[in-house]
Amino acid sequence: MNGTVALVALAALNAPPGGAALPPGAPEILSAALEGRSYGVVAELTDTVGGRLAGSPGAAAAVQWAAGWLRAAGFEVRLEPVNVRAWVRGEERAEVLASDRWRAHALAVTALGHSPPTPPGGVRAEVVEVGSLEELRSLGDRVRGKAVLFQHDMKDASDYGRFARLRMAGPAEAARLGASVALVRSLSTASLRLPHTGMTVFPDGGPAVPAAAVAAEDAELLHRLLARGPVHVKLVLGCGPADPPEVASANVVAEWRGRERPDEVVLVGAHLDSWDLGTGATDDGAGVAMVLDAARVLRARGQAPRRTLRVVLFMDEESGGVGGHSYHAAHRAEAARHVAALEADSGAGRPTGVRVSAGPGAVETLGAWAAPLAAVYAESATAGGGGADTAPWAAEGVPIVSIAQDTSRYFDWHHSAADTLDKVNRGELAQATAALAWMTWVLADAPETLPSGGAAADKAQAPGGARRSPP
Ligand code: ZN
Ligand code: ZN
Repeated sequence: MNGTVALVALAALNAPPGGAALPPGAPEILSAALEGRSYGVVAELTDTVGGRLAGSPGAAAAVQWAAGWLRAAGFEVRLEPVNVRAWVRGEERAEVLASDRWRAHALAVTALGHSPPTPPGGVRAEVVEVGSLEELRSLGDRVRGKAVLFQHDMKDASDYGRFARLRMAGPAEAARLGASVALVRSLSTASLRLPHTGMTVFPDGGPAVPAAAVAAEDAELLHRLLARGPVHVKLVLGCGPADPPEVASANVVAEWRGRERPDEVVLVGAHLDSWDLGTGATDDGAGVAMVLDAARVLRARGQAPRRTLRVVLFMDEESGGVGGHSYHAAHRAEAARHVAALEADSGAGRPTGVRVSAGPGAVETLGAWAAPLAAVYAESATAGGGGADTAPWAAEGVPIVSIAQDTSRYFDWHHSAADTLDKVNRGELAQATAALAWMTWVLADAPETLPSGGAAADKAQAPGGARRSPP
């Protein structure tokens, strides 16, 4: 948006529809966030700290960086302990072995989070392709000793949740059936032949196999070769638990005490960790920048909101969700005092609306409060949203609010080496930050609160129920 349009839109904000009381301050808050300082925040995080895999030196540096940033912005900051399982990547390569029908092909692969290693010489196995966990189970014993390839046809962001199941649960299921390795087609909407990593879950004490993501182009190559005859691959992964395997880390928590109801807390958070392949600029550096710059903009107003504003930068959302669960465990006794939680983990795209998972009537109330976001074309409120780090609170009925963002290109580079600062557009990030800043302020300062109800009530409101993306 150009500045003139923004100012005209900001000038028409005094009488929101719907009758809900609107705290003052929207034009000032939106204008301050639209200056675009959020871009400088994500630039500093990604250029000076870089990748932030939980348990790594980068993650430790990010904790110190974020704490220093928030102190400089005037917040009281504390580090709340999170013990993470640290994992290191190591060497990774794969190839299609030559046969009498074709010459060898190198494959672009990367280990999935917490995958065990292969033996140093690698694993050779025949490829069996499946399109679902159900198809895998139907093959039963026939995948014993094989390389199971999880194939899919992810086309856009809305496919992520559905196919992420293959990455999250597929390798463990393949291991249970005696497979020797698992290859998962990258969860991506564009690729330029890059593999996209992500978490896979092996239940404690259960069987595990080396598991890697393969670039979409190479998954298609494997599919075509399978039509020509049996395909054998070799996979070498040097990844595994770090030494020591458990590392003391932290959630970064900053607070601004409310002026009237300090016991009531509005949480606004994002995850500080990232994958290691890129610099986590969109996942979730952008969310961190939105939260930090929104906090700065609100703090600069001088007068505290009615309720306490609590910023939480969660550790280890990507490879276990430990930070979200640690925060919940530490603050469970305050559940009734968490009146809302906002989470930013949808990239750096422009805002398209606001989403809420709460009790009956929440969408209407939030819609009235979101009226000023017409200035950034994000005034429409719908049910749903949320994220992994606030999920434990949603389950307790705490209203969860998020900014809906344009994710049409998010999965082009998500969890890959291409998740770097150049994918962040300064203007779009500023608009998303403005939306987050205003919604945070109104939730912290409005006389009313959203009706509790969370996940259960949301399912009743939205056909198909709440959809939360896996990490
Ligand atoms: Zn994320
Ligand atoms: Zn992620």
